[in-house]
Amino acid sequence: EAKKIGFNKYVFFNEQINAILQRNLKLEILLRKAIYDKEFSLHYQPQFSIPDNSLIGIEALLRWNSPAEGSIPPSEFISIAEETDLIIPLGEWVMNRAIRQIAEWNNRYQTTLKMGINVSIKQLNHKEFGEMIKSAIKFYAVPPEWIDMEITESIAIEDAYDIHEITKTIRDIGISVSIDDFGTGYSSLNHLKMFPFDRIKFSKLSIDHIVNDEFDKEIVRSIIVLANFMKIKTIAEGVETAAQYDVLKELGCDQIQGYYLAKPMPAKEFEKVFFSLPQQLILENSSVNSSI
Ligand code: C2E
Ligand code: MG
Ligand code: MG
Ligand code: MG
Repeated sequence: EAKKIGFNKYVFFNEQINAILQRNLKLEILLRKAIYDKEFSLHYQPQFSIPDNSLIGIEALLRWNSPAEGSIPPSEFISIAEETDLIIPLGEWVMNRAIRQIAEWNNRYQTTLKMGINVSIKQLNHKEFGEMIKSAIKFYAVPPEWIDMEITESIAIEDAYDIHEITKTIRDIGISVSIDDFGTGYSSLNHLKMFPFDRIKFSKLSIDHIVNDEFDKEIVRSIIVLANFMKIKTIAEGVETAAQYDVLKELGCDQIQGYYLAKPMPAKEFEKVFFSLPQQLILENSSVNSSI
């Protein structure tokens, strides 16, 4: 009997893995084709400073709309793109698209907003990464201060030295660097000491329970104290409620991003919501002294 259950489980497990592998293979094939088919777009989510709620930055988030599979979330395709190295051309497309967008907006609306661009470790390790960024900012004639690179925290310690060097290269260009998804990975505090970052981005998970869980709240408080000491900024992402907002404000978190204030949206909609105000209001609300 036990053997039979074991066998069934094994078969079931195998089928599940098989289904995942099939799906990933299918996505890989679609992904290879998609990059050249222009099925990608960027959505933009605003970032605000606390407590005045002025717009200070924007995060570019990749969207894939496949004619064959419909809309596929980044959580499904980014890892495949990384494993297959397709993240290199795709990341370059994101970089150019996002830089072009911030050039257009900051020039047209006389703002100095920062565009946050997600980059994966695979991209950072690519030998032409530095040159790629330099040529993109040159091509669109943007000051490097208009760009922020979001690097996810889950960096294996073995890669730490290389990442340190690349982060330095990016910052030498004048582009700021944020450490993304902070608080969920490992060696968080070690990373703070090791890397020359400009901003910590608290992950959604690390702030989800700050309203009811004293311990989670104290962890965030401690990291903010540490960040202040290191003269780096803090931003919380995934903020969904007024109660969370109030706690973050009380803790002295510098900035905020999340559904509570605004969801990611297409460029046209972003313009309508954030740039259709009278000029006077734009200047008052958006930071002329943006300082991520
Ligand atoms: P991330 O960089 O940490 O981005 C934040 C994610 O949280 C986004 O998911 C965003 O839509 C979502 N989010 C924002 N506010 C809220 C909220 O209040 N509640 C909830 N539940 N979610 C919120 P998205 O767009 O699905 O992206 C997922 C991840 O995929 C990103 O996490 C990032 O790691 C990766 N990614 C997205 N675009 C790119 C890209 O262009 N390049 C690379 N390398 N990675 C990307
Ligand atoms: Mg991010
Ligand atoms: Mg992330
Ligand atoms: Mg994040």
